[in-house]
Amino acid sequence: MSSTSSSSTLYDAHGRPLEYLRLAVTDRCNLRCFYCMPEEGIKYLPRHEVLSYEEMLRLTSIMVGLGVRKVRLTGGEPFVRRDLVPFMERLAELPGLADISLTTNGVLTAPHVPTMARLGVRAVNLSLDTLDRQRFFDITRRDELPAVLRTFDALLAAGIQVKINAVVMDGRNIQDLVPLAELTRELPVEVRFIEEMPFNGGSHAATPALLPWNHRRIREHLEAHLGPLLPQPTPLGATASEYTAAGHVGRIGIIAAYSRTFCGTCNRLRLTAEGIIKTCLYDQGGLDLRAMLRTGASDQAIAEALSQAFYHRAANGFEAERQRPLHQLNFESMATIGG
Ligand code: SAM
Repeated sequence: MSSTSSSSTLYDAHGRPLEYLRLAVTDRCNLRCFYCMPEEGIKYLPRHEVLSYEEMLRLTSIMVGLGVRKVRLTGGEPFVRRDLVPFMERLAELPGLADISLTTNGVLTAPHVPTMARLGVRAVNLSLDTLDRQRFFDITRRDELPAVLRTFDALLAAGIQVKINAVVMDGRNIQDLVPLAELTRELPVEVRFIEEMPFNGGSHAATPALLPWNHRRIREHLEAHLGPLLPQPTPLGATASEYTAAGHVGRIGIIAAYSRTFCGTCNRLRLTAEGIIKTCLYDQGGLDLRAMLRTGASDQAIAEALSQAFYHRAANGFEAERQRPLHQLNFESMATIGG
């Protein structure tokens, strides 16, 4: 049985509300980050298997009816999909949707920043694992750091809140953590360090049970260079623990994505580019909304199926992982999960 209150907020069996949708508009990407996917041999979805924008709008509107107030567009790389901006314009018109944000690698983003500002996009997560051009190339297998930095500057100039996401990779970018954190000294941005998760599309072996750089070690490393990090309050449902370093105007975040310390307040669903609902990053995905859409299901039937899926979701990422059929986590990529 699902549970709704009079204010139409949907709660799961563990008392967590549904407020937030991460919508993957494509599984394609123009970078080849080694922690996300292999360099070659990626099997992208055939186009007809990807939801159309019409289908995404219909599903988002149903979810807004169930209490979703915030949508984050992601992928793959959202700007790789043609006509993303007209889609955002239509999304911005959906009654009841208060907040549209976006996660991007920044390669194609800069020219769209003024339109995004006009549409009321308040925050953009920009993936950037290093400020060093050679290491950027080594990690992403593309020489695109200058384009990403142009996007960073354009977002700052437009007054859009920027959160930089950096995956912490043993032996790859540890020397970059402090220079990235130093951005918060003068700039009003948040730099968030993410534990590496095993979703690398088979690019390399799964993260070992003992993660070399977990959230505690990341914090210790930063504090050894920047001094004590002062914890800051965060909204319910936040994945990052946030801090400030003395004298810095911006914030430093640490996301325990593999240690999974924040599941107790998780308020989100993921919709993959092929229309599968994931109620947890670590689950295998269950509800096939594309099949429902394309066999003529009514909005009411879809809402009911969504409510059931949300109600029955795992208590946390460890339970979701245990419930997967025998299947290595590293066969999946964050690009297909919808990061
Ligand atoms: N292309 C967009 C981007 O780069 O921001 C959106 C999709 S990307 C999959 C979303 C986020 O997932 C990025 O910040 C990326 O760094 C992160 N990510 C991808 N693979 C990861 C992994 N194995 N562990 C931790 N974070 C990962």
